[in-house]
Amino acid sequence: RHITYEYYINEGEGRRQVCQKFILNTLDVTQKFLLYYTLTNSKEGMAQTEKRTRHYASKYSEAAKNYVREFINKLPVTPSHYARKDSSRFHIPKKDKCIVCVKAENQKDITEEEQEKLKDHILEKKASYRRFAAHQKLHSLNNDTVTSSFDLQKVLNTPHGESMLLYYSRKYAVYNFTIYESSTQDGYCFTWGESDGKKGSDEIATC
Ligand SMILES: [Zn+2]
Repeated sequence: RHITYEYYINEGEGRRQVCQKFILNTLDVTQKFLLYYTLTNSKEGMAQTEKRTRHYASKYSEAAKNYVREFINKLPVTPSHYARKDSSRFHIPKKDKCIVCVKAENQKDITEEEQEKLKDHILEKKASYRRFAAHQKLHSLNNDTVTSSFDLQKVLNTPHGESMLLYYSRKYAVYNFTIYESSTQDGYCFTWGESDGKKGSDEIATC
């Protein structure tokens, strides 16, 4: 018996019929794979009749759906890393922002207790900045002093590139521990691969 398959993609809340070529190109699969998938996943197997549209009754009540929606809305939100802060330029995320500050920025109603805690946190933050600035100045007062800051940088997944093949391949993690000298403005990068050692504070301190 001759069978015609129709292909649909989800578009918003609805669905849109597309041709087979579209599916093949979009999913980057071969026709043979698609046929195999269709046959093995078709509920009626070979008995499916031509051009039949099936309607599934919703399994969940409107009340149940609303309950889930309300629950999701209650979850604390943090903006996407790539959220656009201004419309013209791509926003580069500040990844070293602390969790307390990010949470506070996105919370609408804060209790008095939380407000107090946040105030203390901001005071401590300002004090830290002042301490850091004072330490950075030490070198100009005394040549023997060096002020340095250190941080483990973003994991460099290797190989790095735009190719689709690289996207799906297993990456090798390369770590980069950087020390920066404020006085001399010299930076030192210590790099090692995941097979040499991990990135815990114990490993870094002893290596
Ligand atoms: Zn903070």
